[in-house]
Amino acid sequence: MLKSETQLHSFDPQLNLYWQERATKQGKVLWAKGSRNYRIAEAQKWQCPLCGEHLFNGDKIETHHIIKMTDGGLDTIDNLIHLHKTCHQHEHTGSINARS
Ligand SMILES: [Zn+2]
Ligand SMILES: [Zn+2]
Repeated sequence: MLKSETQLHSFDPQLNLYWQERATKQGKVLWAKGSRNYRIAEAQKWQCPLCGEHLFNGDKIETHHIIKMTDGGLDTIDNLIHLHKTCHQHEHTGSINARS
């Protein structure tokens, strides 16, 4: 069922919205409502701020510290952001092409 949805979602904005809502539901199943991960995801509208895609687009998700803990960053919602695993790697290597 996921297969046909991903094939269709790029053609029709309404289907795209439907698909995004389905993806958001996955997150709501994974993370308990009101939990830290859930609240971080809500704050960023369930999207990856780096690539703009939905967090649950099939990629693995990692949680990034905006201010590194070694620089005094805290483990708080304000300082945490969910990124795709690949986007997270780009964030740490500087730019998308830095290590290619
Ligand atoms: Zn991303
Ligand atoms: Zn990070």
